[in-house]
Amino acid sequence: MNRRDDCYNRYVPQPSATAAADAVPLVPPVWGLLPEQLAHALTARGIPIRDDEARRVIAHRVAIDGARTIVRRPLSRALTSAIARASDPSDLEIVEKAVDPHDGFVKYLFRSPDGALSEAVRIPLEKPGCFSVCLSSQVGCAMGCVFCATGRLGLDRNLRAWEMVRAFCRVRDEAPGRITGAVFMGQGEPFHNYDEVIHAARILSHPCAGRISAQAITISTVGLVPQIRRYTAEGHRYRLIISLTSAVPARRAQLLPIAGRFTIEDVAAAIREHASRAKGRVTVAWVVMSGVNTGDDEVDALRSLLGDVPLRLNLIDVNDPREGGYRRASDEERKGFMNRLQVLGVPLVRRYSGGASRHAACGMLAAERIAPV
Ligand code: SF4
Repeated sequence: MNRRDDCYNRYVPQPSATAAADAVPLVPPVWGLLPEQLAHALTARGIPIRDDEARRVIAHRVAIDGARTIVRRPLSRALTSAIARASDPSDLEIVEKAVDPHDGFVKYLFRSPDGALSEAVRIPLEKPGCFSVCLSSQVGCAMGCVFCATGRLGLDRNLRAWEMVRAFCRVRDEAPGRITGAVFMGQGEPFHNYDEVIHAARILSHPCAGRISAQAITISTVGLVPQIRRYTAEGHRYRLIISLTSAVPARRAQLLPIAGRFTIEDVAAAIREHASRAKGRVTVAWVVMSGVNTGDDEVDALRSLLGDVPLRLNLIDVNDPREGGYRRASDEERKGFMNRLQVLGVPLVRRYSGGASRHAACGMLAAERIAPV
């Protein structure tokens, strides 16, 4: 018997209102539902629920301070137990929690009901007492970026929206302060699981649910062009980061295998389109690797490719845990690269990627146990 069977067997459904309702599947885990979806799912089970009651249920399970600000009146006992009987009881279990003593980053390892392992990282922000959560979108990743531990795992499966939202809630519930943001930059390529990630972002930013600002939610992509175009056309307000890492076609294809499917010119066209529709700077990420992508050829290629587009460049030091893998640039090499990039005239930020001693930094997530909870 696998864990999922066990989970469902432990759940003993009570007799439902009608025989017809029994034929309807369980209501999905509440963490993955918006209030109107919960109301719809319960109605399909023959459990009538008002809109305000559905909002209170969601707020109670997902909202940061929902109990105080939204759930003013408790739900009736009858409705609460009817919802419990009808709902899928799946949950995420915390398998491990590892704190980096150097910078306070905290890595969580979760186990889903089917045994799949995924990670999230609590990130301390500059403002004291404020944190962000880095969320995984998939178990493993199919993109195979050569400098990334997750890419070496291959793809196991997509995470469901409820698993991402639940991971956020579990990290938030243990945080010694406020969670003010979420970034989809953990395991997986978020745009390879587009619908579930966008749905999770909707829940996280919903006033009855996660209640964090849409602008404080960041979604990154390694450059899936059709999804970037779709995202642009749909006009989402979340922040988008597109990882370029190299502007020299042959080198990019070597570092990011997905570049074999979407040329750098296609990615540049999608970036240009996004900048024009969103009427703002597009954030481009660059994983800096010593002796690989810090040369004049990269600066020239980037300038000719996107010199006319309002960008913001985020430089992230590579974190390749492999022995003999890609190395970080020295301060001198990085500084020289940053100086030469000034020719683009765009904001340039070196992003800190912490938690390296606990394998929590960018590119290090591989669902490995590091330390006991
Ligand atoms: S860098 Fe991101 S997209 Fe590339 S393999 Fe790693 S998790 Fe996947």
